[in-house]
Amino acid sequence: MENIKNVFIPDGKNSKKKTGVNLENYSHIRAYHGCRPVDVGRYYVEGIKPFNIKEMRCAASKIFGISEETVIAKEPNLQPALSNNVYFVLFKQELLNSCGHYLCWGSEYLAAIAAQLDRSEYGKYHDILSDTGIPTIFICDIPIDFLPQWQIKSISKHPFDSNSACWIPEVLHPEHIVSHEHPSKIYNPVQMRQYINRQTTCKYCADIHK
Ligand SMILES: [Zn+2]
Repeated sequence: MENIKNVFIPDGKNSKKKTGVNLENYSHIRAYHGCRPVDVGRYYVEGIKPFNIKEMRCAASKIFGISEETVIAKEPNLQPALSNNVYFVLFKQELLNSCGHYLCWGSEYLAAIAAQLDRSEYGKYHDILSDTGIPTIFICDIPIDFLPQWQIKSISKHPFDSNSACWIPEVLHPEHIVSHEHPSKIYNPVQMRQYINRQTTCKYCADIHK
């Protein structure tokens, strides 16, 4: 019984009318991770990794063409949102609307550094982020027992709350990534405008869709 995969899909077609669900009856939950990778293939080797400050400083320095010291100097002004979890939403639509900035700019950390450099939500450094990587939604089946107990309870109670998110404090390994896609139209809620992505395939799309 342990090996049977039984996935609960909050935004699946058959899920709409239910009110509550016992997540413990399922082995996995379908969830979506939005990001903007330069190398999609790395996710299929390393999985979806938690925030790592050293890696992100290095990435910010390379992407923005500034020294790591300059990046670090901007950090005290950032919101204290640098947790080491991997975040997912339970409704794909959320990533295309209210969380679209993750697809437009990638990591929250990079967007926050861009906001410091531009002194605004617009400008050169935001444009650099919009031109780096490819907007990607990873569709994942997360093993239920990766979630903290309180999240299991909370999702069981309100499984169809469209704001629902979940997070895990560790890497989500590649075997839990079901597929990925690159949406063409994304709403950026920070800039309050539509973003058009013209790169809707990558060399890893073909492998996944067999
Ligand atoms: Zn792809």
